[in-house]
Amino acid sequence: MIKPEIAKAINQQINQELVGSYAYLAMSTYFEYENLSGFAHWCMMQHDEERLHAMRLIQYLLDRGGRIEHQPIAAPQSEFTCSLAVFKLAMAQEEANTHSINELYSLASAAHDHATISHLQWFVDEQVEEEKSVGEILSLVERAQNDVNAMLYLNDRLAQRPQESAE
Ligand code: MG
Repeated sequence: MIKPEIAKAINQQINQELVGSYAYLAMSTYFEYENLSGFAHWCMMQHDEERLHAMRLIQYLLDRGGRIEHQPIAAPQSEFTCSLAVFKLAMAQEEANTHSINELYSLASAAHDHATISHLQWFVDEQVEEEKSVGEILSLVERAQNDVNAMLYLNDRLAQRPQESAE
């Protein structure tokens, strides 16, 4: 049986993944409204991915005999001044998520919960990828934002992001 404090922290992380998922959905609908369908597609894929992260943790907690405590999912920011503002927020969100995964990892380490440590290793690695991909787009939007052709090129490129497969 998983320790209650670890189960509580995993429940918090599940909520964080769902809040993140909802935030990417709001970013996607913003871009759709702005007729930047490639950006919208990329954010929708990210929305799906964050939901799958929550599902991974939910399944893990159930496998360990823990209870799932469903928390309210905070309303996301849905109005933005520009594309750059969206990706600045996405970057801040990913950095906050990395911090939260690291805290959870440290808690599991201190509790000598090796199964949780092992499960979280995937999330630690995943956050490296998340920060890299969001950081790359942020950097490109910073340079392209005042150039319509560059933004439309980037929009086309982001439209090509493949559907994530459930692992
Ligand atoms: Mg995530």
